[in-house]
Amino acid sequence: MSNPAPEQGNRRTSVRPWPIGDWPIWSLPQNLLTAILTVELATVGIVLVAVLRSAAPTGRDLALAAALALLGLLHTETAVRVERIRRRIAVPHHIDMSSVWIFAAVLVCPPWLVAGVVLVLQTHIWARTGRPRIPYFKHLFTTATLVLAASAAHVVVHVVNGPGPMTGGADLPGVLLALLVFTTVNGGLVGGAIALSSARPTMSVMFGGWDDNALEIATLCFGGLVAATLLEAPWLMVFVFPPLLLLHRSVLVRQLEEKASTDGKTGLLTAAAWHSRAERELRRRRPGAPAVLVVDLDHFKAVNDTHGHLVGDEVLAAVADALRSEVGDRDLVGRFGGEEFVVLLTSAGDGDHAAALADSAERIRRRIARLRLEVPTPDGPLTVAGLSASVGTALHPEHGADVRSLLHVADTALYEAKRAGRNVVRMGRRLPLGATVPGAHAPR
Ligand code: GH3
Ligand code: MG
Ligand code: MG
Repeated sequence: MSNPAPEQGNRRTSVRPWPIGDWPIWSLPQNLLTAILTVELATVGIVLVAVLRSAAPTGRDLALAAALALLGLLHTETAVRVERIRRRIAVPHHIDMSSVWIFAAVLVCPPWLVAGVVLVLQTHIWARTGRPRIPYFKHLFTTATLVLAASAAHVVVHVVNGPGPMTGGADLPGVLLALLVFTTVNGGLVGGAIALSSARPTMSVMFGGWDDNALEIATLCFGGLVAATLLEAPWLMVFVFPPLLLLHRSVLVRQLEEKASTDGKTGLLTAAAWHSRAERELRRRRPGAPAVLVVDLDHFKAVNDTHGHLVGDEVLAAVADALRSEVGDRDLVGRFGGEEFVVLLTSAGDGDHAAALADSAERIRRRIARLRLEVPTPDGPLTVAGLSASVGTALHPEHGADVRSLLHVADTALYEAKRAGRNVVRMGRRLPLGATVPGAHAPR
């Protein structure tokens, strides 16, 4: 981060109408700043070239662009509450659904008018739903990526279908290709910026999950329908709004569900969400033996006492990442509470299930013991190492038929690991009915 504090203080004392030096964009890391400025300058260049090379727009071009801009403004206004809540549930890959109108503009307007539609809609969206939480430079970058995506899609339509408006089914391949190009360029640029700005970029953080990409494709399909409707039967536009608003609302519901089942500090499943998904997974009866692991960091209180709770939180996040990367995509990792994690392996492994499970648990224990993380602090970077965890396991169906019983066995094994001196794995054993182990948790 640049902009040392004393300089900022001096700047603020002098009243200047255009304090460019104070813009928050300058505090970005150098590589991210360079990437953002490059994208924005490229966008300005492309729009300038488009303006200079285009013939003067016809009255019809202007009317279509104005209609799409007005419809887009109306969409934002009618969905303003939904969109504000979506913005508050910050997700790295936010899709604001303005692509409906932007992609329609790609199909019916000349390129620089498309850029105009993007600018009008995006500025309005920021003013009504993004400000002041989202800094304008961030929104401007999103606007630039949309202009670039729309320009690329426009070139594809123009090259494949030839100039002029859509005329029939023969234009479909060009429109489909443009849709793909739009989503690839936009997703690639946004994903690249997220990769540069995120401490732990994963594919789903950078490019969104399947649901996000399906939503983006759905909005672009809507855009195709809007373009055809506008050209053929503009009065049918009244039928576009109800399903569009319903889609917008259903996206909010999905985001709220996701938020409610995600632990804020680690990004893992919450205990309740893990429990219900693990139950569902056990009912599925896939081939292989599912297994449960309970992982508890050793002497974690000492980490907090030595370095403070903020560093402790960073450690929890790093352990969560380590756990996630040690298991498969289908396996479920949750934060049980405090510094305790739970894992459901959908299959312990081939052959001797108990031996395979012991290997997996041992691999996880070793991974945590190897962790070294650099945490930035006001006094400079701090290296945290020497962590360890104790692990208890339980195998389905030997140790229990449901999640609750498996947790009970794994938790009991975990306490045996603690008593054995910590930093070890203990395999679960079938417990006599009603058995308890001193100090063990009651299963949750
Ligand atoms: P043991 O080896 O017996 O598990 O010792 P421990 O210190 O890990 O366990 P103990 O139960 O004594 O302490 C757990 C600590 O975890 C205490 C609590 O402050 C810390 N903790 C729980 N939740 C959080 C959290 O969200 N953030 C941070 N930084 N610390 C947390
Ligand atoms: Mg502990
Ligand atoms: Mg504990």
